[in-house]
Amino acid sequence: MKRRPIIAGNWKMYKTKDEALAFIYAVNLSVPNKEDVETVICAPAIFLRDLVKREGENLRIGAQNMHQADEGAYTGEISSLMPAKVLYVEYVVLGHSERRGYNHETDELVNKKLQAAINNDLTPIVCVGESLSTREEGTTTEFVANQVKKAYLNVRADQAVKTVIAYEPIWAIGTGKTATPEQANLTIRSIRNVVAELYSDEVAESIRILYGGSVNTKNVDTLLAESDIDGALVGGASLDPESFLTLAKAALNR
Ligand code: 13P
Repeated sequence: MKRRPIIAGNWKMYKTKDEALAFIYAVNLSVPNKEDVETVICAPAIFLRDLVKREGENLRIGAQNMHQADEGAYTGEISSLMPAKVLYVEYVVLGHSERRGYNHETDELVNKKLQAAINNDLTPIVCVGESLSTREEGTTTEFVANQVKKAYLNVRADQAVKTVIAYEPIWAIGTGKTATPEQANLTIRSIRNVVAELYSDEVAESIRILYGGSVNTKNVDTLLAESDIDGALVGGASLDPESFLTLAKAALNR
């Protein structure tokens, strides 16, 4: 089964507006063809309108978070309708470990957000991943399986297959410590098995599962060479245009 690779940048809370626009101009014409690699930049909400206006044929823009309700008295929040239907943003990162940690997002909340994103035609990138203590206890597979099962509760197979999962071990995020390609592949394989259990072998073989956590231009090739790693969700190394382009082009060889 050939799954189209995805290289998604998660800018987190970095860049000024001028830097964000300069980045888009620098990469727009050079990212691979979207039929070969999906390239996505998930930017702070305040930049989304400007970036979508300037995205080229092959680059896509994503949000980093959204509220689970379509509207309501939620001061400071942004619903999934806003990026999807007003700005034509196509992707949204959900359940990132930084939001689970700093903003106390639970699996149940990630599930509500996932359903809202699907209903409003956003492609969710659902993040899962274990802490260092879970890895050391040897319970990573069970921990991550539980996160996936809870996130996909009441999500149908035809909906799930269009979503993207990102396996991001918390101990590898922003630390320079990457999971070895074998470690990442094993856990991603175990996630695919969970998807097969929840839905079917077809869904498990079609859904794209990314690795995230200190991916850079030096380690991307060995990670993408693994059988089950369909791309990367990249923080730090997605901020520089040259680095992002190198990562995107690496996925051409997958
Ligand atoms: P780093 O690539 O900076 O480790 O961040 C990974 C990440 O959290 C992407 O969502």
